[in-house]
Amino acid sequence: MSIDIYLDGNATSAILPAALAAAVDAMAERFGNPSSSHATGLRARAVLDATRQRARRVLGVGDGRLMFNGGATEGIQTAVLSALCALRERQAGGATIGTLLLYGATEHKAVPESLAHWNRLLGLNLRLQAIPVDADGQHDLSMLRGCIAQAALLCTMAANNETGAISDLAAIEALLNQSASKAYWLVDCVQALGKLPLALSSTRIDYAPFSGHKLYAPKGIGMLYVRAGAPFTPLIVGGGQEGGQRSGTENMAGIAALGAVLAALEEGGVFRSHAELLAVRVRLAESLREALPGLVFNHAFAKSLPTTLNFSVPGLGSRELMDVFDAAQVRVSSGSACSAAKAAPSYVLDAMGVAPWRSSGAIRMSFGPLIDDATVAEACARIARCGEALRASCLIPSERAPLPHDGVVQLGTDGACSWLLLDAATRSCIIIDPLPALTERIESFVRCQNYRVCAILGSSPDSDRATLARALGRHIARDQDGDVFGWPSSGHCVTLADGGIVAGLPFGAKVLARVLHDDARASYLFGDAGGDGEPPAGAAASYVGDERPPLREKLRLPATGVRYAFVGHAGQEGLAALVDADTLLCPSRDPHNAFCTSMRALASVQDSTSLPPDTDVAAEPDASAIELDAATLADFLLRHPDAQLIDVREPYEFAASMTTGPGGRIARSVPLSRLADQLGDWLRGEPVPLLFLCRSGNRSIKAVQCLRRLGYRQAWNVSGGLALAAAPLTLAA
Ligand code: PLP
Repeated sequence: MSIDIYLDGNATSAILPAALAAAVDAMAERFGNPSSSHATGLRARAVLDATRQRARRVLGVGDGRLMFNGGATEGIQTAVLSALCALRERQAGGATIGTLLLYGATEHKAVPESLAHWNRLLGLNLRLQAIPVDADGQHDLSMLRGCIAQAALLCTMAANNETGAISDLAAIEALLNQSASKAYWLVDCVQALGKLPLALSSTRIDYAPFSGHKLYAPKGIGMLYVRAGAPFTPLIVGGGQEGGQRSGTENMAGIAALGAVLAALEEGGVFRSHAELLAVRVRLAESLREALPGLVFNHAFAKSLPTTLNFSVPGLGSRELMDVFDAAQVRVSSGSACSAAKAAPSYVLDAMGVAPWRSSGAIRMSFGPLIDDATVAEACARIARCGEALRASCLIPSERAPLPHDGVVQLGTDGACSWLLLDAATRSCIIIDPLPALTERIESFVRCQNYRVCAILGSSPDSDRATLARALGRHIARDQDGDVFGWPSSGHCVTLADGGIVAGLPFGAKVLARVLHDDARASYLFGDAGGDGEPPAGAAASYVGDERPPLREKLRLPATGVRYAFVGHAGQEGLAALVDADTLLCPSRDPHNAFCTSMRALASVQDSTSLPPDTDVAAEPDASAIELDAATLADFLLRHPDAQLIDVREPYEFAASMTTGPGGRIARSVPLSRLADQLGDWLRGEPVPLLFLCRSGNRSIKAVQCLRRLGYRQAWNVSGGLALAAAPLTLAA
């Protein structure tokens, strides 16, 4: 069994072994052009004819047309063009035609896009009207009844690709018949092939497109059924192939492969029965429910294909779910188009009236009728593993208290970031510049880890600390005389490198010193303070406003002791005298994922005389020098036996991961959110070659660029990430 568990069957499928053999045979042995009259051509023609006959029987085409084409998108264009050309002719001949182009609100985009395109091109100017659906994805038949008399063309898919919702075609047909509608009827049957019984000529469906790659045939082969008597206009003309209905030399490898799939459908014994597929769905649904508490399915199982499960999990976005499933090598898809930062809601789920969090966080798990029990068992085991990984990262509730973390965490969203300081020994934390968008995430992390929040700090008046403080409630440890966000009235008195005296908050074995730039803006210096904090004679206190350094303990925080400076909106203003060249400067705005910088890195950019004056100071090092692809990776690993692999995926992805790194080496987990925490050790320690990786190489390159900017030359990226690293993949122990 392949290590990948492919559960994205509604997107595409692997190829049936018999289909692969048929395609190879068509290319190697029967490679002729079916239009040629010699024997080589005739052998290819025989495959074409046999496949068409097979398709006619399987789909119940009767005396209708059945042509091969490039796929469903082409079939939809051809059907729409055919119907609209006929409507235009009828109109030109003086007949009254319907004014509406009706389509289900959850149709694949190929349908409304084709309708709009050809309507405009043919100058028909009919009105496109979406038919709403209910919570189960079923068409609103009363709305349809109300407007069917004005319909020129009606498009209603047989089954939805995101949810598997099966349309009630019998009811729609009855409605068309009762209303004596003259509307043409297009039914997108892409997701129905092999999963629902089809007897097309016994219905009044005029057009039915199919796509081979959704059922174990290759991409680029499709079929279009056209009812006998329904209007037809070819989309592609030329050599007259397919009886002049679709010109262009036939895709014989695709046709032969599709023929093998149709043979499997017709002869039986290859694909699993409907009852067996229902049982598979039950097993997958149960393991999903068990692994992911609170999970909700976004469709009614009773009215959906057994091969599609669409679900959302409270508190988890589709990005996190996709990432954890992908790490476990369970290939699913998000129900919506999502960018790295934000998931867009799914228009299908929106049309069903699903809550926005469910729509934007939806995951689709779909499989084909070839699925076997071993794959299902392995899928269930990996789903459980994903649940465990998310639990251990506090992303879903857990009964067991996870191990507390230590150090610095950076959480980002939309180019801004919040910083968390964690102390495992005392289970306490400090939060700097909390972003409202991260409130839920920070709150659940703090609650799950059972941290005591010593303080919520802001670097500028824009910092919204109140939202998080409200959410955290009892988790904030307030000093009796301190402010509402935890800053104590009697902290420490810290003497900084320039002799200035500021207030400090002890945290673990370190201290956090507050440097006020004015009444509203502050930076925070975090590091190792010494005991003798007596200011040099004559040194001016740098505190401003009503800040009065308390005198509980006097500490000295020399520049070399400052590990991190949380610079927030104040930027680096006045900090050069207080910090070391390698102190990590941590911003509250990070639009380019730079993570952090240092005085040394800033100076090297500014000092660079080789740069033309208008060069972007954030310019990245030459990418070609730091990217290792499949060809150079093996050689690199041979030359650098001491190289350390660093996996920057989030902890839940690492925990769910099924593979070792390239060359079978074990990677160490340093998630991007913890990069700043680790940087100091790398920068201060003996340099070793570091090889960064993630799933695609997009996240790890950011870490490499950050290290290089900070002056660490021995950092490289695995180009294309784990997805492309040409290492033999073995199951991790
Ligand atoms: N219709 C439905 C329901 C689909 O799922 C798809 C593919 O996702 C299409 C049409 C388009 O098929 P193709 O991309 O093969 O042309």
